[in-house]
Amino acid sequence: MITGVCHCGACHWTLEGDPGAITACNCTLCRRYGVLWAYDDADERIHVTGPMRTYTHAGMPDPTLEILFCPTCACVVAWRGLKKREDGRLRIAVNVRLAPPEAVADLAIDHFDGLNTSEDLPADGRCVRDMWF
Ligand SMILES: [Zn+2]
Repeated sequence: MITGVCHCGACHWTLEGDPGAITACNCTLCRRYGVLWAYDDADERIHVTGPMRTYTHAGMPDPTLEILFCPTCACVVAWRGLKKREDGRLRIAVNVRLAPPEAVADLAIDHFDGLNTSEDLPADGRCVRDMWF
């Protein structure tokens, strides 16, 4: 299990099992936050806890997700879908930048073009370690 914690320690996430590839996205939110995402469904392999506040895309008439962040230290903890899918599940992704570096350093990066095409880009061999700084 991998655990992430915000800077002040109030908010946590856990992810059980293999997180798979980690997503780096260039959308207007991810670019600003500098986040790297691991995905699953809420309350299945991923659990989030803490006094999180939420942000939904300002000015978007029908937002599909909310950002969860710590109200004290402002770390982005996760995003979570606002509507359940047909199977009753709710998509969630946690920010692996909150994990200990050694726990996630070797995970492969998937580049997702959330800004223009909403498609995955070809893998370029980078892993989380290459994205830290
Ligand atoms: Zn915090």
